Amino acid sequence: MDATDTKNLSLRDQGHLWHTLTQHQTAAPALGIVKAKGALLWDEDGKEYIDGIASWYTCMYGHGNEHLVQAISEQMKTLDFVLFSGFTHAPAVNLAERLVGLLPQNQEKLFFNDNGSTAVEAAIKMALQYHHNNGEKRDTLIAFENGFHGDTFGAMSASGLSSYNGPFEDFLLKVIRIPTPTEENMEEVSAQLRSVIAHNACAAFVYEPLVQGAAGMKFHSAPGLNALLGLCKEADILCIADEIMTGFGKTGKHFASENMAHLPDIICLSKALTAGMFPLSITSCTQAVYNRFLSTEVAKGFFHAHTYSAHPMGCAAALAGLDLLESAPILERRAYLEKAHRAFVAKVQGHPKVTNARSMGVIMALDLNMSMARYGSLRDRLYRFFMERGIVLRPLGNTVYVLPPYVITNAQLEKIYDAIWELLHTL
Ligand SMILES: *Cc1c(COP(=O)(O)O)cnc(C)c1O
Repeated sequence: MDATDTKNLSLRDQGHLWHTLTQHQTAAPALGIVKAKGALLWDEDGKEYIDGIASWYTCMYGHGNEHLVQAISEQMKTLDFVLFSGFTHAPAVNLAERLVGLLPQNQEKLFFNDNGSTAVEAAIKMALQYHHNNGEKRDTLIAFENGFHGDTFGAMSASGLSSYNGPFEDFLLKVIRIPTPTEENMEEVSAQLRSVIAHNACAAFVYEPLVQGAAGMKFHSAPGLNALLGLCKEADILCIADEIMTGFGKTGKHFASENMAHLPDIICLSKALTAGMFPLSITSCTQAVYNRFLSTEVAKGFFHAHTYSAHPMGCAAALAGLDLLESAPILERRAYLEKAHRAFVAKVQGHPKVTNARSMGVIMALDLNMSMARYGSLRDRLYRFFMERGIVLRPLGNTVYVLPPYVITNAQLEKIYDAIWELLHTL
């Protein structure tokens, strides 16, 4: 078989492929995609789809973005790869200098990985060893109920979604979960956290700042989160902000953590970091965290590595992405999306089928006034409803959300809103 053959992908896929998040006995065959550009995808039959979730919040500057493509191909020709233990390279050094200037001001050191889960995994290991290096045994993590931090063991432990981590529950790290803070429950959640801290040896608090993505784009209160971070800081519990979804402009600011006065000790980045071009992730930390690993004893260093850490092509993509993040055209699109989402939220807010319509930055979500299983048949109906109309959205249970590439055109965005509006009137 010709390796460049793009025929009958969907059918041939079923021969040997095992897909992510899929029950293959009941799932529809995977759709073969042959081309992507801007906010559009094309399947093997030539049908066009609007990528309404930027392929899991990655391709924010559009698929096939010329600036990114050029940066990566130049990099490939100059230096494809070199191991990152004992060696360094310009893309990593340049990226570190640029990113440290953009991240919340207490972030000083970057540790590279190759995906989001392992960025969280490294963050958790850093936090545990941070205390260990100080001669303390702190064995407990604090996390939010319904959080999602990835699918490796540490990241799964911090996650609260049972469909992902249920079968592994007996093998996870010790984690205590607290509710997300709202204006109403803020005092109670703070009291609960105080009690958790008083009765456990807590090493770190792992949280998605302000928006819980996989939970269904659930928002929580910035002052509430700030209060919780303050309590952790007092007890030297490291605050680990998982900005893998929220990072690089999704919530309006470059990073959601900028909304709180108390800054995280550690930040996890991936997804839009490389704008969909290459798998890469970063675990950034403060000088104080880094210093805890300095010693004449070798074993106090952080002995953690993935072969493809700091891949030059990923770093080149990330650097090119930063050029775009703050460029005038992208800033204009970010502002437009924010305004358009607010207007659509105002339009659907009072609809009898809608509860809790909301937006933050370029994220817009609404909950349908009906209960349905996260991956049940009603949810699948919603998914198909949009796909039939040439729109890729992945409803999470009864939550329909839109998180489009910044470069989506006004007309493409209107088409998504119209389809949601139509859905509300056909339910
Ligand atoms: C996607 C995601 C992860 C996991 O990243 P992977 O690259 O899929 O391993 C972790 N945390 C958050 C908030 C995410 O959105």
